[in-house]
Parts: sequence; structure tokens; C-alpha cells
Amino acid sequence: MLILILFAAFIRVTLVIMNETNRRAFLGNLATLVAGGLMNQPTLAQSLFTSPAVNFSDVADTDPYVAIQMSPHSMLYEGIGACLDLIQKTAAVNYVYTYSHAFHANTLGKPLNQMAPDHGKPARDFRNKVPMVWVKHHDEYFKQTKLRIKSASPLLEYADRDLFKEMVKPARERNMKVCARILEGSGLAIENFDLVRTVDVYGKRGSKACWTHPDYRHFWNGLVADMFNHYELDGFQWGAERMGPLMNIILPWNDDAPTCFCEHCVQRGRAAGIDPERAKEGYRKLYEYVRQLKSAAPKPAEGVYTVYLRYLIRYPEILSWQYQYRTSREEVHKGMYDTIKKIKPSAEVGWHVDQQPASWDVVYRAEMSYEEMAPYSDFIKLILYHEVLAPRIKSWYLDRFKSTILSELTLEESLNIYYDIFGYDKTKEPTVDELTKKGFSPDFVFRETKRSVASANGKTKIIAGIGFDVPGSPKDDPERIYQATLKAFEGGASGIMVSREYEEMRVPNLEAVGRAVREWKARKKM
Ligand SMILES: [Zn+2]
Repeated sequence: MLILILFAAFIRVTLVIMNETNRRAFLGNLATLVAGGLMNQPTLAQSLFTSPAVNFSDVADTDPYVAIQMSPHSMLYEGIGACLDLIQKTAAVNYVYTYSHAFHANTLGKPLNQMAPDHGKPARDFRNKVPMVWVKHHDEYFKQTKLRIKSASPLLEYADRDLFKEMVKPARERNMKVCARILEGSGLAIENFDLVRTVDVYGKRGSKACWTHPDYRHFWNGLVADMFNHYELDGFQWGAERMGPLMNIILPWNDDAPTCFCEHCVQRGRAAGIDPERAKEGYRKLYEYVRQLKSAAPKPAEGVYTVYLRYLIRYPEILSWQYQYRTSREEVHKGMYDTIKKIKPSAEVGWHVDQQPASWDVVYRAEMSYEEMAPYSDFIKLILYHEVLAPRIKSWYLDRFKSTILSELTLEESLNIYYDIFGYDKTKEPTVDELTKKGFSPDFVFRETKRSVASANGKTKIIAGIGFDVPGSPKDDPERIYQATLKAFEGGASGIMVSREYEEMRVPNLEAVGRAVREWKARKKM
């Protein structure tokens, strides 16, 4: 058991110590950046936005916050009014979060077998048929960056529509809020993206953009300024589904070498008192060590986990660099938050935290609390998809750790530690053998919501992402969706986000959400 205790204790204690030493450097860097104008995006053409500010109090106090994630073409295909009616009548939705940019996807749309068949119109496969960007952009907002949004082919379906303008009236008539969502991703729809790509430990360009690159930051600030000056948006959710360099080594999502060591990150690291060459060397050695573990080569006689710890002890720069990665990412959030708030203070701006950081990335959770993110977060939306979490824990967590630094544990031992570290009830959650057939319980939603609300400490809202009909998931049960929704509210969530995508959601499951929302509303009145 010693190794288990060491694992939890070492990661937690070390990161807490690093937090303390690096936080001051982070704040110093932030001040420098602001003074240098990097994050000081000027407010552009504020007068263009003429509609009155929408206050969240417009939604009756007794109506729980119920948002939904939506793809733009789904609403246009089903008809804006019909679609809004359906989500309001079934799931009591009052906030509609639609993609304004689908940067993460090569193409929006899904194969027919992943789409709900019961929305009133026959399901249609929209892959490769619709745009990735759903708002009109204006060049003057991108003067501080070399990046531009590529224009979409006018031949794509709905390319001539302007959904975020078209849906305002129908949404207002139904007392619903119009909100935009974005997932960061590849540079497929972005011109000059190569300029901002990360640089790995071997000096090669990575696949993603560098958080620290000024052009990337100005791109996001310009993009949201443009949107909030031209559209009547009540809310904004932004997310980036990628891990930090340490996690991507020990729990590899891909085989990419660790990043980022570009000139901007090297400068940032040095300013924080970290030797960039030592950080790079440590990451390179750790990466090569773990790659060897994944191969057929013999395991180190001294112990797989022991030698892993040796790299962290010899190169404490690994943890410091990881923390800089995170704080740089948080500064991108802050840049967008400040930009939007200058234009429309009443807009609710928050962040999508995907399933890995929300439910098993202990490095992400240890780096900072949700309270520390609160100064630039009106809400933090966590993915708490209870059913699909089980197969994800099996293939994305247990199997990956087994092939890297936790190969000395059985899958059962590894799963038990996971449940203990995250505070989930192992008597209610699946065993290793059940993970591919049975989802996590509604009690998981309750416990993770409660833990996250405690982490936010009343400083920002926690929105629970209730997910169902997600491909690869054990079969959804409306009764468990009803329970999970109630459990989120009981756990202290300020609201829920019905997830993952509206086009996947079957009506009986949407109705299960609505039943729970009405039940919660009735309880609050008592
Ligand atoms: Zn960089």
C-alpha cells in the first residue's frame, strides 16, 4: 500500500508547494503582461451594440438554471421555433448554448446511428455539409493578430443564414437566453495557424496552439469582442479539451512529445525563475522513459513508479513548467472574460471543463481550486456524464495508467485508489468488470458536484453537465437521468447543462431532465 499512499501524497503535496511558490510569479507575470498590453484588448466599436443588457434575473427566481448544448445546424434543420419549443417543453430549458465556432471538429454532424430519431423530423447526416463558423466576422477586430478566420464555402448548407441573429426573437418570446459556445481545436478554420503552434522538447512544432503566444491571445480577444459587439448574446462558454504536458506523458492521450518550449514560453518560464533548459531536459527524459515503459522493453528492476518519481525529484522544473502551462491557459480565459465584460457586463461568461479534468485529472485539480478561477469565471461547467464515464475510466484512465507509471498495480487496485482519491463511493460505482456495461451512479454526480461547489467556495457558480445518449455509453435509463439531475441540484449546483449534443438526445431522456427540474422547483417552493 505504500506505493499508493506515495502516489497520492507526492502529487498533492508537491503541487501545493509549487502553487505557493509559483503563484506569486504568476501574478507578477500577469501584471507585466497587462502593463505590456498583451491582454489589454481595446474595446472596439462598443456603440455597435445597442440592445439593452439582459439580466439573469429576467428568468424567474423560481426557475432553475437549465442550459442545453446545441449544434447550430440542428436548430436550423428542425426549425428554430419548433426546436426551442421541444427543449422547453421536455427539459424546461431556459439557456440555449449553441456553437458559434466548431473549431474542434473537422466537420459538424453525426452518423445517423448516433442521432435521436424522435425530434419530429427524420434524422439527417450533416457531416461535411455545414460550416464550422456560424457568426459573421469583421477584420478590424483582428488587427493585433496575424490569425484570421477562414471564410466558409458559400455552397455549404446554411452558409447564408445568421442563426445568432435569427434566434433572438423566438428565444426572447419564450423567455430563453441566447448563448454561444466554442471548443478550441485544430487550426483547420484559422489562417496562419502554423505561426502559433507549440514547440516540443525536440524543437518540432506541435498540433495545438501555444497559450502564451501573443497572436493566439489577441485572436481570442478579438473574436469575442467582434461577437459581443454584433450579436445579442446573453452568455458565453469556452473550452479547450487538451491536457497539460505532464498528464499527456503519464496518461497519454496521444504520443505527442511534451510542449511548449517556444520563445514565448521560454521567456515566461525564465521570468518565473525556472531554468527552461532543465525543464526541457526533464520533460524529454520523462517522456522517453514512459515511451519505453509502453514498449516491450524490460521494466526497470528498481520499480516503474520509483523511477518515475526519480525524474520528478531530479527535475522539479517538470512540475513548475506544468504549472506555467496551466496559468498561461487561465490567462487566455481572463483575456476573453475581461474583453466581454467591457462590452456587456451582464453577459455570463464561463468555462467548459471536460470529463478528464473534471473527473480524473488529479494534476489539473491539484493545480488550482475553482475559487482561484473565480475572478474571471461567472460559472464553471463540469462534464459529469455518469453513464459514459465508466467505459472512459476503463480505457482512458485505468488502461493508460497500466501501460505507463501504474503498471505495478492491478486494475482493481488502481480503480480503488481512483475512487478513494476522488471521494466517490466504491460500493455504488462499477467494479472493473462492470465498467464497460454499467455507468457510474447518480451518487457520483452528487459527490462530484458537492466537491466542486466546495472548491468554488461560493465565489463562482458550478454548473453540472448532465450527459446522456453519448456514443459509446452504456444504455441510458430515464430514471437514472432523472436521479442524476436531482442529485446535481442537491449537491449544490447553481444549474445544469443538458449535454452532450441536443441532436443525440432522445425525447424520453429530455423529459426525465424536465421531471427532475420541476421536482426541484417544487421542493424549493415548499
Ligand atoms: Zn509556447
